[in-house]
Amino acid sequence: MKGNTMQKKPQVFLTFDVEGPAPNEDVLDRRTQFILMVILKKLKRNKLRGLFFLPGSVACTVQNNSELMEALKSHEIGYHSSTHSNGPLIFQFTDIADYNEAIEASIKKETQSFRQGDVKDITEKGFLAFQGTFPKRKIVSFRAPFMSWSPPHLEALHSLGISHDFSSSVSDRPFYFRGIMFYPPGLPLDGIPNIVGFWGESPSNAKSKRFKLNLTLSRILKAPCTVLSLHPARLVFKTRRNYLKKDSRNINRGSLDVAIRLCVIELLFRQLNILQRMKLIQVTPPLKIEKNPLSEINSQVAYDRSVYAARKLFHYNPKFLYSHFTKFFGLGYRKSSVPFETESLGIIRGRILWRVEAQVKRQITMKNGLGKRVKDTFNGVIREILYAIDASASKVPRYRMASRFGCDRHGRDVETGLDEYVKLLRTRDSKLHTVLVLGSRVKGAWIPRSDVDVTIVSDSLSSKSLSAISQRLYDLKVQIQYSDRPLNLGIVASSYYSKSEFIRSIERFDFQALDALFYGKIIYDDGFWQVAMERYKELERKYGFDRDRLKKMVKHV
Ligand SMILES: [Zn+2]
Repeated sequence: MKGNTMQKKPQVFLTFDVEGPAPNEDVLDRRTQFILMVILKKLKRNKLRGLFFLPGSVACTVQNNSELMEALKSHEIGYHSSTHSNGPLIFQFTDIADYNEAIEASIKKETQSFRQGDVKDITEKGFLAFQGTFPKRKIVSFRAPFMSWSPPHLEALHSLGISHDFSSSVSDRPFYFRGIMFYPPGLPLDGIPNIVGFWGESPSNAKSKRFKLNLTLSRILKAPCTVLSLHPARLVFKTRRNYLKKDSRNINRGSLDVAIRLCVIELLFRQLNILQRMKLIQVTPPLKIEKNPLSEINSQVAYDRSVYAARKLFHYNPKFLYSHFTKFFGLGYRKSSVPFETESLGIIRGRILWRVEAQVKRQITMKNGLGKRVKDTFNGVIREILYAIDASASKVPRYRMASRFGCDRHGRDVETGLDEYVKLLRTRDSKLHTVLVLGSRVKGAWIPRSDVDVTIVSDSLSSKSLSAISQRLYDLKVQIQYSDRPLNLGIVASSYYSKSEFIRSIERFDFQALDALFYGKIIYDDGFWQVAMERYKELERKYGFDRDRLKKMVKHV
């Protein structure tokens, strides 16, 4: 949907970091689980949707809590890295000079098993296992623990399917950059007042953090997008900073303190509920890519905020991270195209997946478009006329339930018809290599008036180095050559290639070639198909692709 973002309803993202209390956020204790459940009930009562970020470590605890799992079903789930606080952390394992090596290190870290510290059997395969914990939904959003994200790490996650980032603090407006949506920094609600009307840890510093509920609300109404962020653990425990300063006996909050904080949260939720009912705001709308250009970017601020925790909490001074930030933001937009050999596998993989997805989307839009429907109707009428005048059309036998591709609208058997078609092609063209059937006829979704989509690899003609006019003549010639007259079964040669063209299409990961490889049913082959399959498998090994994922992407074309 195109539209002016300026006129859109303000968006509010209610985000929650689901993690245990400092210093080991990877352990989700019982008190926090309890508070989390209280918050989830409040959200439900107020018909609000939230975005819950879970570290992989915590997901393992949550998946054993059926009540929590059930309550989380109606909310968006985001990834909070495989581990929260067990090092090495993002700012450490990506702090290496070479940008591409940093990406590789990140992919390794987010897809490999690890066991460390108190954390048991977590994230066997990192992000992949995390996805498995929440089947039936796609995890697309990410927030770095301590907001200390790093560009190579985010690019690595992007190649694994993440497309929305909530940790960058780069701009006050959401924007789209290098395949990722970036959201504004979160407005922390953790210092929720112990005196109603103030945010702040204690009345003494409440002055400096003076903050009123209605100020938050007016800000929400004015800004195009506000991210509110809350750590449920911090409602029951003091913050990490307090933990570091004070002794551990003093980290719990008193029950009255907790009760007051929950009251303020309830108040906030009710207000948001009213604004949502009045259709003045959207609370945690479904995550969508909107290609707004970059605005007000400040990579220096992004860097400073990202390394804040590294320096302050972990006394770690990054050496190379700054160069990654300048590289990432300095590169600007780049068109997604043929992979560059010099780039890391992770980037290439991400880019290829993105490209296939874009092609498939475009194809589906075209399929459902008015132009296509008009053309289909027109072709259908022509076909009927030709069927009526071509005597040999009736020679194709009737459909028997056992055959592969169903029947056409006259009840003729498509499979036998296709055999006839191949015979016809061979009389017209002696250099046929492979013919395969695609589309609804092989995916089991055919109806009698469905086209029979075929892909043809043959070396009879080459479209290389043709001018625009001769290209049109060539297309016409090919259409005649590959038409199914006089059978008129509705066979459409939707793609035709020479051998080398088809191999090139595989190398470019064109969705038509992928569709043919994964779903095509061969009706004629002189041995070329084996060669094509081998080439694809080679690429799959080289880039480390998950074939099922690609298969799923092209499934609905
Ligand atoms: Zn966190």
